[in-house]
Amino acid sequence: MRLILLGPPGAGKGTQAQKLVEKHGIVQLSTGDMLRAAVAAGTPIGLKAKDIMASGGLVPDDVVVGIISDRIEQPDAKRGFILDGFPRTVPQARALDELLKKKQLKLDAVVELRVNESALLQRVEKRVAEMRARGEEVRADDTPEVLSKRLASYRAQTEPLVHYYSEKRKLITVDGMMTIGNVTSAINRVLEALGASPAKPARKSKKTSAKAAKKSAKKTKSKPKKASRKASKAARKGSKKASKKSKKKAKKGKSRKSKK
Ligand code: AMP
Repeated sequence: MRLILLGPPGAGKGTQAQKLVEKHGIVQLSTGDMLRAAVAAGTPIGLKAKDIMASGGLVPDDVVVGIISDRIEQPDAKRGFILDGFPRTVPQARALDELLKKKQLKLDAVVELRVNESALLQRVEKRVAEMRARGEEVRADDTPEVLSKRLASYRAQTEPLVHYYSEKRKLITVDGMMTIGNVTSAINRVLEALGASPAKPARKSKKTSAKAAKKSAKKTKSKPKKASRKASKAARKGSKKASKKSKKKAKKGKSRKSKK
C-alpha cells in the first residue's frame, strides 16, 4: 500500500502515520525527519538544507525529490510506504507522479486530515501556556507565532494539492479534529473500503468515498459469481439434453437393427 498523508502542521500526520505503520507493516517516509538527519550528519544535502530549514522555508524540490526517489528503492519500502511531509508543492507532486510511473508503482490514496486552523492555534497556545506555567522549556518552533507562519505557508504552497489529488480521484478527506482513535478508525474504514490490505496492493478504484468504494467492490464481486452460476447451470442442462438425445438415438438404432 502506498499512501500520502496530507495536512497542516499539527494535524496529527505523524501520529496517524505511526498507526498505519503498525497496522500495515509499511514504512513512514518523512522528508522532515530525513532532512534533519542529513543536517545532523553534516552531509552535502544537510549543509544545503540547514539554513533553509532554520528559517522555515522550503528546501528545493530537486533535493527532496532526489531523497524520496532513493528512499523508496530501499528494501524496507518494497511492501509500501506512507509519505509524510512530501509532496509539499504541486511541482513535487508532479515529480512524484513521474517517479512512480518510471518505477511502475501505483499510489493507492492520499489521506487529507482536515482540521480547523483556529482550533489548532488555540491548542498550541494552551499547551505553551501550560508548559510555561510549569517552568518547562518551550521548543522554538512550537509557538503560536511560528505555527501561524507555517499554516500560511501550508495554505499557499501545499493546500493546492487537495485539488490536484481530488482531480485524480485519489483524495480521501478525514475529519482530523476527532480523537486520535476515531481518526485512525476513520482512515482504516476508508482504506478497507478501497480494498487496501497489508499483503496486497490496493485495488484500482475510481471512486473516492468509502461508500462508493464498497459499492463498486460488491458489484465486481457478485457479477462473476452470478455469471459462473448461470454458466454451470446451463452446462448441466446442456449435458442432460445431450445424454437424453444419445439414449434415444441408441434405442432407435437397436430397433432398426432388430427389424432387419
Ligand atoms: P516537517 O518536519 O515535515 O515539518 O519539515 C521540517 C522542514 O523540513 C520544513 O520546514 C522544510 O524546511 C523542510 N522540508 C520537509 N519536507 C519538505 C518538502 N517536501 N519540501 C521542501 N522542504 C521540506
